[in-house]
Amino acid sequence: MDFLWLFTIYSLLVLLSVFLICYCSGRNLKSQGRILRPVSKIVHCIVPPWLQQTTQNTVHRLCHTRTLLFVLLHLVLDLAVFAEYSWEIFGYCLELEFCWFYLVLPYGLLTLNIFFFFLSSVTDPGTITKSNLKQCLQTHCNNEETFLQHRLCPTCNLRKPARSKHCRVCNRCVQRFDHHCVWVNNCIGALNARYFLPYLLTLTVLAAYLAALTAAFLLQVVILSGITLGGYQDAEGQQWPMETQLVIQHLFLTFPRIVFLLGFLLLLWLLAGGYTCFMFYLLLTNQTSNEWFMRKREGCAQCRLLLPHAEHSAYKNRYSKGILENLREVFQPNLQQKKRK
Ligand SMILES: [Zn+2]
Ligand SMILES: [Zn+2]
Repeated sequence: MDFLWLFTIYSLLVLLSVFLICYCSGRNLKSQGRILRPVSKIVHCIVPPWLQQTTQNTVHRLCHTRTLLFVLLHLVLDLAVFAEYSWEIFGYCLELEFCWFYLVLPYGLLTLNIFFFFLSSVTDPGTITKSNLKQCLQTHCNNEETFLQHRLCPTCNLRKPARSKHCRVCNRCVQRFDHHCVWVNNCIGALNARYFLPYLLTLTVLAAYLAALTAAFLLQVVILSGITLGGYQDAEGQQWPMETQLVIQHLFLTFPRIVFLLGFLLLLWLLAGGYTCFMFYLLLTNQTSNEWFMRKREGCAQCRLLLPHAEHSAYKNRYSKGILENLREVFQPNLQQKKRK
């Protein structure tokens, strides 16, 4: 089956690209978990060392310097998806008498998504400066148990409030540092996490909605054409009922761009959805990605030393104050700062 081979190669290439980005972004094998480890061994065997090195260097450079490249790539992908949607799917769906509201809804979701993307990108994540240091230290109190008091950032030469971290990409210390996001070209911290989470949520909903709409359109085409009721004749002249893979092949040959778009949207939905769930879990339990990774590493190191109480000490979440307060801390950071004045 030519089509199925093409589709499999396409899916494998996309998954390989995602893996290469994860692998080359600087994290070592230990932090990639059990799933990625065997894949990385296969990549080691089949990809020439010079290509591994060049890719690793390029992706590392792109991920560790502030660049608008990923922001532009994000906008180009948005443009490509919506150009295809407006040019083909929208018109076909109107012909099939889909409700107007359902067809216009993706534009509303896109506007919301770009709005939150823009806010995540331009809002100060909570840069620590000499002038706001005192307030930051009051808001994120240092506690010997969780964060060493009087600890200095060697680059900024300022005291580090609890939960802060120096971002090497932006060269600044950030309050309640989560991570540096290359897609929004900004750190995610105390003051812009409230925009980053709705951005992720709208992206996931948008991908799921567009995928569902595209699948509904293709399903409608299959039903109306009656293709599943027919059959086909093989080389020996024998009649066979229509199989699912032949229906997919027929759709691919008739609407190639739409089928590829559906594949891309499903993959985006899985990746963005998984990441959004993880970020909402961190939100509800009042953790940052930085703390979660540090605790995981700390836990693994302690497990290797066979400390009996490793799990309790490594994974104890010291910042959670209940779901409502945790939500308020992220979505009303200014209120939190005023409270502690
Ligand atoms: Zn610093
Ligand atoms: Zn940064």
